[in-house]
Amino acid sequence: MKLDPTEYKIDFKNRCALVTGAGKGIGREIAVELHRFNAQVVAVSRTRTDLEKLKDEIGCETITAELADPAQAKRAAEQAGEIDLLVNNAAIAKLEPFLKTTIEAWDETMAVNLRAVLIITQVVAAGMIARGVPGSIVNVSSMARFQALRGHAAYCASKAGLDQLTGVMAVELGEYGIRVNSVNPTVVLTEMGKRAWSDPAKGGPMLARIPLRRFAECEDIASVVCFLLSDAAGMLNGLALPIDGGFHMT
Ligand code: NAP
Repeated sequence: MKLDPTEYKIDFKNRCALVTGAGKGIGREIAVELHRFNAQVVAVSRTRTDLEKLKDEIGCETITAELADPAQAKRAAEQAGEIDLLVNNAAIAKLEPFLKTTIEAWDETMAVNLRAVLIITQVVAAGMIARGVPGSIVNVSSMARFQALRGHAAYCASKAGLDQLTGVMAVELGEYGIRVNSVNPTVVLTEMGKRAWSDPAKGGPMLARIPLRRFAECEDIASVVCFLLSDAAGMLNGLALPIDGGFHMT
């Protein structure tokens, strides 16, 4: 599609967007940004009060669900109704050294970061195909997919798996006009980011490797997600896109 630079703007009018993990951090910012671009937003998360605050701000539909539970993940996706844009953002990071990684933490990480994405995307993509509409899906992965981060065994493995899942979904859903991409952010000082990186002994060396000399902000991720969801990215499919200020080149 040829874009008119004087008129082109992202506009998700009449499109419905489902965002998981929309209660806090990056997911919340993505929901707000989608609303600014006129999407109807369905926000899924675990803590009801977070969703109520978001609803007060942007007037979205809200669904409370524990996505580690496959039945709740499926119910949330079904309850969301007809979806055109999907952002699989919810994830957890349980920091444990490799030798002390517990089965419980491993299983919960895979259940939320990977299995819930499979379940939700199956429901949403099947709905798009049945309605005969194109769609766009963005999975929020991490630079942890490329970097072996100490203390992040389950998290790194889940994000590497997520990017491969993205690839297979891009290949299989592409023929229906459904694009699937991942974004791979560097550190963002959300609640999750602070737990892992606020100690200068850990965060300092990480920051020093980022050519732009700053961590990312939630807005940096939300704007790229909206671009990937939009028609301007109409030929992008199966990407794992670093949002890292050039870290991946160092
Ligand atoms: P966050 O501040 O911890 O927020 C995560 C959101 O997801 C919260 O609203 C949380 O709800 C929800 N969530 C988590 N587990 C859930 C579950 N089992 N069921 C339903 N909702 C659940 O995290 P964030 O930093 O914004 O991270 C968002 C995404 O970016 C994740 O995919 C993360 O891996 C990725 N990422 C983050 C960073 C970073 O440095 N922060 C870097 C790269 C990639 P509750 O609070 O109610 O549990």
